[in-house]
Amino acid sequence: MSAGPADPGRARGAGVGGGAGRDGWEAVIGLEIHVQLSTRTKMFCGCEVTFGEPPNTHVCPVCLGHPGVLPVTNEKAVEYATRIALALDCRIAKRTIFHRKNYFYPDLPKAYQISQYDLPLGVGGHLDVERDDGSILRVGITRVHLEEDAGKLVHAGGASGRIDGADYSLVDFNRGGTPLVEIVSEPDISTPDEARACVMQLRNLVEQLGVSDVNMEEGSLRCDANVSVRRPGDPFGTKTELKNMNSFRFLQRGLEAEIERQIAALESGERIVQETVHFDPATGTVSTLRSKEEAHDYRYFPEPDLPPIELADAFVERVRASLPELPAARKERLMAQYGLSSKEAGLLAANKPLGDYFEGLAAAAGDVRTSANWVLGDFSAHLNAAGLEVAQSPVTVDRLAELLGLVSRGTLSGKMAKEVFEAMAGTGKPAGEIVAEKGLGQISDAGELEAIVVRLVAANPGPAEEFRRGRERVLGFFVGQVMKETRGQANPQLVNELLRRHLGGPGG
Ligand code: ADP
Ligand code: ZN
Ligand code: MG
Repeated sequence: MSAGPADPGRARGAGVGGGAGRDGWEAVIGLEIHVQLSTRTKMFCGCEVTFGEPPNTHVCPVCLGHPGVLPVTNEKAVEYATRIALALDCRIAKRTIFHRKNYFYPDLPKAYQISQYDLPLGVGGHLDVERDDGSILRVGITRVHLEEDAGKLVHAGGASGRIDGADYSLVDFNRGGTPLVEIVSEPDISTPDEARACVMQLRNLVEQLGVSDVNMEEGSLRCDANVSVRRPGDPFGTKTELKNMNSFRFLQRGLEAEIERQIAALESGERIVQETVHFDPATGTVSTLRSKEEAHDYRYFPEPDLPPIELADAFVERVRASLPELPAARKERLMAQYGLSSKEAGLLAANKPLGDYFEGLAAAAGDVRTSANWVLGDFSAHLNAAGLEVAQSPVTVDRLAELLGLVSRGTLSGKMAKEVFEAMAGTGKPAGEIVAEKGLGQISDAGELEAIVVRLVAANPGPAEEFRRGRERVLGFFVGQVMKETRGQANPQLVNELLRRHLGGPGG
């Protein structure tokens, strides 16, 4: 953990970023992230883990909390959680146990959640987060632990989706008992931008581990953000908690709004109350609950129905050996293998599909520099503009390689290629088809161009003579004429060569 005022990462947080800031205040942010594991079955029973199925079709006496049944720990979930903890550089507990976390809520039929308390699976890790400006913020990972998800409440009728506006609530226990990993960060984050970058990077990392769908909208990755503000150098202030931020944008906007609210409150002499606050994306404002019930006493005690888990060194080492290349290592390799800049390699390593796309393209097109420029330039811009993931783009690696081939063979100019790319992204057609349809394509046929050049030189004896007497600028006049006749599609290099040859003169 690195939370002292001397930490350089912290000092740059003054004036809280993301446009929410006011001079003289800095924010302190810590994240709690829940990741639903994509195991086949639930945490403590044999029910299938599903999403979007008819309600209450994947339930059994164990996950419905009936009395007299025994939970059994899902070994795959332990392995997946270990993968996450190792990827975050955590120390893995030799012996770990489950606790009961007692509270009543209608989505929790046992009236306790099986979770981990003082002996979590992993502790003391970190994640190196790349800020928007390319610098690195090391965020401490306090703990990684395993628990089970609750069921899902559906608030029905009434004016709004909120429970206080609903006529009644329905509960779907399909989600109840799904394995969850909770990742708790140290309060090492200073701006909403950094918080967003941290969750994005964590999502990419977990995605690459293949242990979760990490879909924020579907709730397989959920983020609670704790935030306080203080004067730089002061001790931490009282924090509030923004729960269930289900998109990167809401997380960032929610934090900005809450930081503003806290600063305004403190500046007008109020105190911050430790509580959960709600961000309403529609109005962009946060509302507070100020409820005493927020101060839970969960009366944790060891789960008597589950044996402790002892993780053999051999098991941990087997899991470690099975980890894929992680973003930090990939970044280093991309720099060494392709000569990419730190920024380029960082962007490609942070997004596995984009990194794979780049490596595929570099191999297929045979030109690293051009491939990197296209993937990080036009291709990324197209994904952002269309809101697509790499795999959803109609411009596959092979199709972009085809386009780059047309450029390297001189059929298309760089400018034409951009136009063709736009059309490929928009229509889903391959480059060749678009070039044919639009009648694009540079004329690189020397015979065809030579005929035009010969004709133009003969038709303009005056300028031709000037060129031969040494007026180099006249060449531009002839190039312009050729371009006019070919509607700009002549290969400029070839035109220059042909003109010099046929005009003769000082150079020829
Ligand atoms: P609690 O006991 O309320 O659960 P923890 O100390 O376990 O609090 O921390 C929960 C989360 O809140 C962690 O992500 C941590 O980094 C963050 N956090 C703790 N103190 C602060 C603070 N003063 N300001 C912002 N975040 C904080
Ligand atoms: Zn079950
Ligand atoms: Mg806590």
